[in-house]
Amino acid sequence: MSERSQTPIRVLVVDDEGEVRDAYRQILLEADVNRDLAVFHDLRTRLFRKTEIAPPPAQPGSRAATFDPVFCDGAETAVAAVKEALAMELPFAVVFLDMRMPPGPDGVWAAARIRELDPAIEIVICTAYSDVDPCEIGGIVPPEEKLSYLQKPFHPHEVRQMTIALASKWRAERTVVKLAYFDSLTGLPNREQSRNRLVSAIEAATLHERTLAVLYLDLDNFKRVNDTLGHAVGDELLRVVAARLRSSLRYSDSRSIDSSSIARPGDLARLGGDEFMVLLPNIRKPADAGVIAERIIGALREPMQLALNSLVVTPSVGIAIFPNDGADAETLLRNADLAMYFSKRKSPGTYSFFDAAMNASALQRFTIEDKLRGALQRNEFTLNYQPLFDIRTGHISGMEALLRWTNDQLGVVPPSEFISVAEETGLILPIGDWVLRSACAQAKAWHDEGLPLIRMSVNVSGRQFALSQFPSQVGAILQETGLDPSKLELEITETVIMNDEAWAEKAIDQLKALGVALAIDDFGTGYSSLARLRRFAVNRLKIDRSFVTSLNECSDDRAIASAIIAMSRSLRIDVTAEGVENISQLMFLQEHQCHEAQGYLLGAALPAADAEQLLRRVDAVLEGTRTQRLKALIG
Ligand code: C2E
Ligand code: MG
Ligand code: MG
Repeated sequence: MSERSQTPIRVLVVDDEGEVRDAYRQILLEADVNRDLAVFHDLRTRLFRKTEIAPPPAQPGSRAATFDPVFCDGAETAVAAVKEALAMELPFAVVFLDMRMPPGPDGVWAAARIRELDPAIEIVICTAYSDVDPCEIGGIVPPEEKLSYLQKPFHPHEVRQMTIALASKWRAERTVVKLAYFDSLTGLPNREQSRNRLVSAIEAATLHERTLAVLYLDLDNFKRVNDTLGHAVGDELLRVVAARLRSSLRYSDSRSIDSSSIARPGDLARLGGDEFMVLLPNIRKPADAGVIAERIIGALREPMQLALNSLVVTPSVGIAIFPNDGADAETLLRNADLAMYFSKRKSPGTYSFFDAAMNASALQRFTIEDKLRGALQRNEFTLNYQPLFDIRTGHISGMEALLRWTNDQLGVVPPSEFISVAEETGLILPIGDWVLRSACAQAKAWHDEGLPLIRMSVNVSGRQFALSQFPSQVGAILQETGLDPSKLELEITETVIMNDEAWAEKAIDQLKALGVALAIDDFGTGYSSLARLRRFAVNRLKIDRSFVTSLNECSDDRAIASAIIAMSRSLRIDVTAEGVENISQLMFLQEHQCHEAQGYLLGAALPAADAEQLLRRVDAVLEGTRTQRLKALIG
């Protein structure tokens, strides 16, 4: 026999007549069916003799179904009993309700109240009269399929078997609900269930003009526990967290918060992973939610003994208040989540209230950070190659490797959105390493195929460049890929040099000793003067696109661009103009003897296969005038 069917069935018996209650008592407390039969005849006579009898003792050792009945003599006490059972988390499976209990309210009244309190309970209407129409009662106390009918006088077997059958139906339904709406690890409501609960709490708050709060919790160091101590310890930790959340919410701090603001067990949920939600359906003022958040953080911060480890876990908490921070469940949850992210970044283990400044762009920023982790392992990066043209000869002088990121959920993310995040988080170090290695390997492959690639340009972040081992890393990658160092040019920005001029000078010397060339990218945006850059032995300046864009209209920018070109020539530094988009810009640059140009007019960044095709075309059009060659390549 399964363990489940051995747990006693909780039954509520409601009848104003003591004799009838005794009859039930006989049936429900007598587990042995054979004995049931023996007492049956006796019972009938006693029923009509109207004398109280003591119930026979229960037989706990019996293998048959056992019952845990509660007896009430009126409708009101029955409603109170259901309430209490729910509060104790010991709900009744079945209630037998007498139809007429004068002078108090009748069975239909009780059924309606009970159904309101407990949508799952099986209700049995019992009556000696034939004027009761179950169909009519079903309309008053829906759903009809959870309503049964029993005619008095009943046979004990009827009551017993009906209880067992209805309880088994009730249990099966509970199991289904548990599977669909509860998290099996912690026993807490899951995301789906908590959403339903939040929706109805918002409806109630709207109706009664209440303030409601949603707390979004995320454990700060859960991943590390899982990774280092294993999933079994991780699971145990989540169970302990759930238990602590339960008890910290049950505790009522009547001095600062009124009792209606204390969450009920159903107002706590596990949203997935190490994320939990607490719903406070009725608070007096938003600050009360902060008090509860603090209490929760305090409760979780206590050290936990798991297996042989003593662990300290802190949660970061975000709070969104209804109606101020959102009118519906999705908005409130999203804003609470966003506030949680702010807590986590600002100082883990604290709480934050949502505020409007935590806007969509901030959310996008956090989402990028989240997805950027692991992007390298998931092979989400590729390199595109943009051709660099020698505009004096019309030949391709190089390719610039430009990083591309495609994520399953975010789609193609432009470098302008993720490079800065990668830099802030330090993720740029492994990513930059991958870029350099891939670009060198590609250049070497093209070279080996005999394609005319003179130079591969690779962007280097300030974070990479600042590492004392950066020059030796570059050397190692060159060795590993077998690329001739003279074919590699590294692009850094002026600010990177100016941040630490002493190191920049040393690093550039070391890189040049390897045979690698250096270019200053986005020149003109970093407030450094050419004179200051002189002592750094850079090979090239790349004039920022902002100057090139306004070459047609703005005479100041024309003057600046021509001055940069002229001065570089005198310092024997090559110049590349970035962002050349039209013929007149190209003509201006040619007139001023700018060496190189890069831009959409000449070619956008291409996937490796297309860049390779372009290099093959170059091979084929080596002959002809400069203009003919440029035309052939652009066309
Ligand atoms: P950048 O190094 O100055 O690269 C040139 C950027 O200008 C590229 O944008 C390129 O597609 C774009 N561009 C080229 N020609 C034109 C044009 O005619 N008009 C316009 N409007 N834009 C043009 P992209 O690929 O979006 O890269 C943006 C920036 O991201 C790069 O600027 C560079 O600073 C950074 N970046 C790209 N790849 C890497 C990388 O592998 N490592 C590092 N650290 N940064 C990278
Ligand atoms: Mg660049
Ligand atoms: Mg640039």
